[in-house]
Amino acid sequence: MDEHGSLTDGVWDEIIDYLRRYHGWLIRGWFGQLEPLTIRGGVLEIRSANEAQLRYLEETCRTAFTEAAQVVLGQLVAVRFLCGGGNGEASRRIEPADLLRLDRAYTFENFVVGPSNRMAHAACLAVAENPGRAYNPLFVHGDVGLGKTHLLQAICHRVLGGCQPLTVLYLTGETFTNDFLEAVERGELHSFRHRYRHVDVLVIDDIQFLAERERSQEEFFHTFNTLRQAEKQIILSADCAPKELKSLQDRLVSRFSWGLVVRIDEPCYETRMAILRKKARARGMELPEEVLELIASHIRRNARELEGAINKLDMASASCGGRITVELAREILRDEIEPHRPRITMDDIIEAVTERFGVRRSELQGRRRSRSIALPRQVCMYLARELTRLTLEEIGGYFGGRDHTTVMHAVQTISEARRRDERLDAELAGLIAALGGAAQGRPPAGAKL
Ligand code: ADP
Ligand code: MG
Repeated sequence: MDEHGSLTDGVWDEIIDYLRRYHGWLIRGWFGQLEPLTIRGGVLEIRSANEAQLRYLEETCRTAFTEAAQVVLGQLVAVRFLCGGGNGEASRRIEPADLLRLDRAYTFENFVVGPSNRMAHAACLAVAENPGRAYNPLFVHGDVGLGKTHLLQAICHRVLGGCQPLTVLYLTGETFTNDFLEAVERGELHSFRHRYRHVDVLVIDDIQFLAERERSQEEFFHTFNTLRQAEKQIILSADCAPKELKSLQDRLVSRFSWGLVVRIDEPCYETRMAILRKKARARGMELPEEVLELIASHIRRNARELEGAINKLDMASASCGGRITVELAREILRDEIEPHRPRITMDDIIEAVTERFGVRRSELQGRRRSRSIALPRQVCMYLARELTRLTLEEIGGYFGGRDHTTVMHAVQTISEARRRDERLDAELAGLIAALGGAAQGRPPAGAKL
């Protein structure tokens, strides 16, 4: 509060935060439009947009707002609600999505649909459009980074943005457990129950973190039953299917499967490409198709890692004037692209190549440029680039101190030759397999590397 009696942002934030924590069930979608006006003579004035909101605030929220304001301001204050007619003092607005700590980017619009997540996406959309009536509960599971949180939050955004004034609670299994234990400790179980059992849509992400606590499972069991009986929507996510939630009580597990259980799988190549395009565009980055292909063909497990790669390129792009080439991307993403490569040494490569091409080590490392030596030498450089973590300079060092552009040229020459010349390609694939780098040998069809 400053000397003119207007509320600072921080104070209003804290009041709202307090409400969210201890009276979350009161919060409506339009709370974001409330405007804290002034605090004068011990009265905090809060403006709502219309009569209906005003009535709700006065009838239902006065005690909670008063309590919140007193705790935050540390003084006795009363609360007065007003409505309509702004006086020009623009105040900050808080969106309900912020109250629930939702990520604004996790919307249906920003979600890429592919074969791996089509079912889950459709189910989430159906539930968001028709809470309590489509599938109840909806249980979404899949490995880390596959988009569970994104979909669950997309449901929240859609429900909050809809025309029905529904209340939504989004939290993790861990938060539920912590809130519960805290409520027990403070002797506030009554308000805890009120908060969780009076929502229209309850979304609990990562329910597996509820798993090991007997009492919070018990509490959740009753929350679940109350909400479902009242036809309120319950949405849950976990890193595995209900029946694999080993430490969960059977009666909970069986209930989780009452509605619909959907799994998200690893995204296929096309989906990975689409996710990369979307994430790059969201950052205003323009990446060459080849760079996207490089990432999509190497990072296969999940969208979070794809996003991590885009972030890394984004950070690096400042230092190269925004132009990310494939070579540069390869360099920047070396650890992501080749994390588990078997340790192959330069010696291994030179030995394999001298044997296959019938040349001597000293010739490879010497200065002769005749084709019979130049080709195996370039092959060595190419293999070193493909199979080791040596830098271009280090590779050049093995071949009489040739500089990095020579090595780069060799790598490009052999890559192109592999695409044109089937025999050479087969020969190199054989060499790579013999060296133990089979898995990384050839780029997948369709990916130009
Ligand atoms: P999970 O909760 O399953 O571990 P998240 O929902 O946190 O995964 O997803 C990790 C990241 O990947 C998020 O930034 C999310 O936006 C992104 N993501 C996952 N799947 C998709 C998708 N199909 N389309 C767009 N982004 C996605
Ligand atoms: Mg998650």
